[in-house]
Amino acid sequence: MLQADVGIIGAGPSGLAAAIAAGRNGESVIVLEKMEQVGKRLLATGNGRCNLMNLHPSPYTGDSAFAEAVMGSDPVAELTAFWDSLGLYLRYDPEGRGYPCTFMAATVMEVLKAELKRLNVEIRTGAAVQHLEKVQHGFLLRPENGASVSVGRVIVATGGTVQPKLGGDNSAWPWLKQMGHEMIPARPALVPLRTDARSIGGLAGLRVKCQISLERDGKLLHEERGELLFTERGISGICAMQCSRFLPSDGKAQCRVNLVPDLFPDRRAVYEELIRRQQAIPEAEPVSLLLGLCARKIGYAVCKQAGLALRGEKAEKLSAAQIKNMADSLTGYCIQIVGPEGMDRAQVMSGGADCASIRPDNMESLLCSGLHITGELLNVDGDCGGYNLMFAFLSGLRAGKNRRQAK
Ligand SMILES: Cc1cc2nc3c(=O)[nH]c(=O)nc-3n(C[C@H](O)[C@H](O)[C@H](O)COP(=O)(O)OP(=O)(O)OC[C@H]3O[C@@H](n4cnc5c(N)ncnc54)[C@H](O)[C@@H]3O)c2cc1C
Repeated sequence: MLQADVGIIGAGPSGLAAAIAAGRNGESVIVLEKMEQVGKRLLATGNGRCNLMNLHPSPYTGDSAFAEAVMGSDPVAELTAFWDSLGLYLRYDPEGRGYPCTFMAATVMEVLKAELKRLNVEIRTGAAVQHLEKVQHGFLLRPENGASVSVGRVIVATGGTVQPKLGGDNSAWPWLKQMGHEMIPARPALVPLRTDARSIGGLAGLRVKCQISLERDGKLLHEERGELLFTERGISGICAMQCSRFLPSDGKAQCRVNLVPDLFPDRRAVYEELIRRQQAIPEAEPVSLLLGLCARKIGYAVCKQAGLALRGEKAEKLSAAQIKNMADSLTGYCIQIVGPEGMDRAQVMSGGADCASIRPDNMESLLCSGLHITGELLNVDGDCGGYNLMFAFLSGLRAGKNRRQAK
């Protein structure tokens, strides 16, 4: 039987941050990770670039007041100090998103691993914990392979149920339920959206800067501005993913996409520009009026939705009503959403352990002394832009801090 002061289940961002904080406080730490490699999901973040910070605050979803308490008054300063202590330099883009200066997630893993090694933190990979049991002086952890581990306190950092290939699972849910924790059902959040084939036909692979209005029966559910990516099955990119958590429960909605939001002040100005172009190139095909405003394939899709002939007609033949339809389609391109993609495609889970039973200063359970819960396993999820990693790292640091020193 192995023994340690602190046992950590899961070697993702929150588990590794907890291990460092506990190790720095002089506690002996053992981390059990079920995958053969630590931080598999961290390495996949930000398309391998790891967007781990954001200079601008953004409210969290789920137990948002709890999340705010965990983040504290200056999370950017606190996390910057942490990265400084590991020697990691950051770079920020104009939107305030922070990345490792190398723009490589591997660099983040390298500095974390170096510190864990310096602190003699023991990490066991290929060790899926199957049972967690409260015993008289602490906890007993039983991994699938290898010896059981006896610890004084335990930090459950098993993450969300998304992307099983990167380690996502719900193995911790039965343990936490048994200890009295309420678990809010998991749903995919920050996930691409599936659409009908008609509205995205021929557009797969194209990216646009746009403004999206998500609607259901004429009621506005959410608005986003940013990058949209057309895929084989629907739409993705930050803009689409940020809309996903606002979908009605049956997943069905309508997106109106303004494909030229920064180029014109309003729809009227688009209409006037198209009329000007019609006069300038009367002999051209209708789609040519859109040249230079959007990709040609998008131009065809816009014309199709506006009910215009794609070929064999001259722009001069278009009536004012048809030009208006074209302007409407360019500024409100309609896409039918049929539902979100599943957990296997989501970046983040919404739902998880109800935070009403957790202390935000050290993430300790109010129902079971010595049990801490961190990161995405909690009922907290953030926007795209680094907020989920910020919460994972900060909640891990709070949990890892020696209990006696918690505020
Ligand atoms: C493709 C992708 C891109 C993303 N990009 C960003 C981004 O750029 N910025 C951002 O802020 N967020 C991003 N996220 C979200 C971010 O990765 C998560 O919010 C974050 O990793 C959560 O950290 P965690 O430590 O709570 O959980 P995880 O990172 O999921 O780590 C949990 C660990 O626990 C292990 N585990 C599970 N069960 C057991 C068990 N029974 N025994 C032992 N080990 C177990 C898992 O294998 C895993 O390694 C992205 C997510 C994905 C999938």
